[in-house]
Amino acid sequence: MDINIIDVKNLEHSFGDVKAVDGISFTVRKGEIFSFLGPNGAGKSTVINILTTLLKLQKGTAKVAGFDVAKEPEKVRESIGIVFQELTLDRDMTVREILEYHGRLYSMPKEERRRRTEELLRLVQLEGKGDTRTKYLSGGMKRRLEIARGLMTRPTVLFLDEPTIGLDPQTRIRIWDYIREINQQGTTIFLTTHYMDEADQLSDRISIIDHGKIITTGRSLELKNMLGKDLIYLESSDNRAAAELLRELDSVKDISEKPKGMVLMISGDGTRLLPKIMEMLTGRGIAITTVNLKKPSMDDVFVHYTGRELRDGGAEKMSSAIIRAGKR
Ligand code: ADP
Ligand code: MG
Repeated sequence: MDINIIDVKNLEHSFGDVKAVDGISFTVRKGEIFSFLGPNGAGKSTVINILTTLLKLQKGTAKVAGFDVAKEPEKVRESIGIVFQELTLDRDMTVREILEYHGRLYSMPKEERRRRTEELLRLVQLEGKGDTRTKYLSGGMKRRLEIARGLMTRPTVLFLDEPTIGLDPQTRIRIWDYIREINQQGTTIFLTTHYMDEADQLSDRISIIDHGKIITTGRSLELKNMLGKDLIYLESSDNRAAAELLRELDSVKDISEKPKGMVLMISGDGTRLLPKIMEMLTGRGIAITTVNLKKPSMDDVFVHYTGRELRDGGAEKMSSAIIRAGKR
């Protein structure tokens, strides 16, 4: 049986004249890792803040863990953990105090509080740092501590708002590992991110969000298949002649010229087309000097749906520019 742990219908939210959330509906199933992927200002944090009862719901309905966000905010709060976009740790408290204090806020019995604290310190590999004040932790350690705090009360759903923002690549990968581990232990995860690789690597399903609206939802691979166009970069001894020949092929949808070569946007499976292209060009006496095949990335998917790149996406700019050029 499919159980929707989060169920949102026609959510709208304005700050004065700014419509931050503009009619959003979606569901998250029990046990999923679900991501909102979108640029800064898309409305991601606003949705998280409504679902976690930090912002009052203005319009639409939202249920979390079976409870209505507007009518049963306390029940919702008991069911969730939150990791905020900005660090919110008290600098002068120790790592262990942060977790213990959080447990006390939620009236956890002392014994359980202690046990859970040590368990979580192990999970996020901070067991050696229990007595360290948080101001002395690295950025990655602080983030791990925040995740541990979000898990203190064994939430049904853990909300993570941009969990790896500003962290170095190694630390990000470790945090992804913790998120997967937590999920495997049964916690449903709702996360927001503006990093495509993060959404791509972690999520069972992704909603791409922009200007307060969901643009599309799907499994990462589904989104790529929907885009369905491989890219081939090619340099040859005679680029002009090569481009002319390749334009004749049905599966070549677009060619954009580059300083030293060209990028072909093709339909279908590039691994099958590539040998044909090489044979064809070689047969006409054109030597191929460089060739490479690329599957569309989340960045390409985003550009495809929104017509623009994610602003700080850390992505393959080349192919995005091509797809945009090819879109017309
Ligand atoms: P994201 O988390 O995707 O970056 P936000 O939900 O933070 O986006 O913001 C969505 C829009 O709402 C932005 O235009 C932002 O400037 C605006 N906004 C967010 N919070 C407030 C606030 N407290 N007051 C006024 N405007 C806000
Ligand atoms: Mg945000």
